[in-house]
Amino acid sequence: MTQYKYFLEEKDLPTHWYNVIPDMKTPPPPDRHPATLEIMTPEDMEPVFPHALIMQGGSQERWIEIPDEVQDILKMWRPSPLYRAARWEKALDTPAKIYYKWEGVSPPGSHKPNTAVAQCYYAKEEGLEGLATETGAGQWGSALCFATQFFGLKVKVFMVTISYHQKPYRRVMMETWGGNVIPSPSSETKAGRDILAVDPETSGSLGIAISEAIEYAVTRDGWKYSLGSVVNFVLLHQTVVGVEARKQMEMAGDYPDVLIGCVGGGSNFAGLFLPFLKDKLEGAKPDLRVINVESTACPSLTRGLYAYDWGDTAKTGPVVKMHTVGHGFIPAPVHAGGLRYHGMAPIICRLLEDGFVEARAYHQNEVFEAAHSFARSEGFIVAPETAHAVKAVYDEAMACKESGESKVILFNNSGHGLLDLAAYDAYHREELPDYELEEEKIQQALVELPQVPS
Ligand SMILES: *Cc1c(COP(=O)(O)O)cnc(C)c1O
Repeated sequence: MTQYKYFLEEKDLPTHWYNVIPDMKTPPPPDRHPATLEIMTPEDMEPVFPHALIMQGGSQERWIEIPDEVQDILKMWRPSPLYRAARWEKALDTPAKIYYKWEGVSPPGSHKPNTAVAQCYYAKEEGLEGLATETGAGQWGSALCFATQFFGLKVKVFMVTISYHQKPYRRVMMETWGGNVIPSPSSETKAGRDILAVDPETSGSLGIAISEAIEYAVTRDGWKYSLGSVVNFVLLHQTVVGVEARKQMEMAGDYPDVLIGCVGGGSNFAGLFLPFLKDKLEGAKPDLRVINVESTACPSLTRGLYAYDWGDTAKTGPVVKMHTVGHGFIPAPVHAGGLRYHGMAPIICRLLEDGFVEARAYHQNEVFEAAHSFARSEGFIVAPETAHAVKAVYDEAMACKESGESKVILFNNSGHGLLDLAAYDAYHREELPDYELEEEKIQQALVELPQVPS
C-alpha cells in the first residue's frame, strides 16, 4: 500500500534552528556599511533590525534555541506534512521517487510565517511599537501582518506597485490582519518620491520597496525594519522546515539524492536544504545535489556577478556580497513576484561559489506547464514561485525516466497559488509572455556596483 503523507506530532516540533555558518567551508564575508563601505558592526545595524536578530545573524552557535512562545505559535500549523507525490510519479511514468514538504498549510499559505513569528517575538521583547516592511507578491507582507497580531505590534507594508494591482486579495488579507498597506514607490518616503520624480509610471521593485521600508522604520521611534528573506537570520528561522523534513524522510525510509527549491531571496529553499546539506559539508553525503531554481526574468545566481552590492535601490541598507544583477535592476513583471529580487542570500551564494549547490533558471510558460501537470495529479495549485521548483522536479523526474534511475527527489512546496489564479488564467489564455532578458540590461545595472576596498 502506498503511503502518501508523513506526519509529525506537535511534540516533534523542532526546538532548535540549525545555523549552517560554523559548518561552512568558507563563511559569507562581512557586510559593508551602505555609505562608507567599511565593515559593518552590529551597532551599525541597530537602528534597522532588532538586536537579537543581528546577534543571530552573526552567531557561531550551530543550534539556536527556538523560544517557547515562538514554538507555541508555530504549532498553529506545524509540523507541516511531508507528501509522497505518488500519483504524479505515476502520471509522469518515472522511476523517480518524488517527495515534497508542504508549507501551504500555514494561515497565510506559505513558509514565510516561520520567520515572521520569530521576528515579531524579538521585536516585542525589545519593546518596539511596530515593524515596517516591503512585500513583492504580498506573501511576506501577509505573513508579517498575520504574525504581528500575536504580539500587539503595528505593521506598515510597502507593496511593489505591480503586485498591489495584480494581487489585490493579498492586500485584503494584510488589512484583515491589521496591516497598513501602500503601493511602492509611494510619496510617503524620500526614497519613493525620488523614484516617482524620474519615472511616475514605474511598476516598482523589491529594491525600492526595501528602501522605503527602511527609511520609514529608522525615522520613527519604536519602529524597526523587518525583512522576509536573504539575510542569515531569516534562513536560520526557516530551518524548521528541513529539520522536520529529515525526520519525515526517515519515517519514509528514504534519503534524498536531489533537493530542489525555488529561490527569490533563498529562504524557503535554504530552510529545507541546509539541515540536509550539513551531511554533505561533513563529507557523509558527497553526492547530494541541491538545485536552486530562479526565474529567467531575474537570474541572479545563473547570470549575475558574485560581488558586493547594495541590498536596496536607494543604497540605505547593508552592502552584501552576493550574486546580483544590480541594485538598480528592474525585472520584467513576471507573476512570480517573490522571485524578482536582484540579489540572493549570501549563504547560498557562498555555497554556490564553493560548489556545494547548483542553480538553474526557467521561463514562466514552461513553469506553469509543469504546475498544471502537478495540479492534475496532486491536486495542489502551487504559487507561481513554487512552480519554478515543480518544473525542475519535472525535468529531473524525466531525466530519471530516460536513464532508468530511481532517484529520490525532495522539493519544498513553499506555498499555494490560490491568490495567484490570475496568473493561471493568463496561462490558460496563452497571454503569458516569456521575457528574454538582454545581457546588455544586466551589464548596465552592474556598472553601478560599489567599489568595496578589499
Ligand atoms: C516569497 C516566496 C518565495 C520566494 O522567497 P524565498 O525567500 O526565496 O523563499 C517562494 N515561494 C513562495 C510561496 C513565496 O511566498
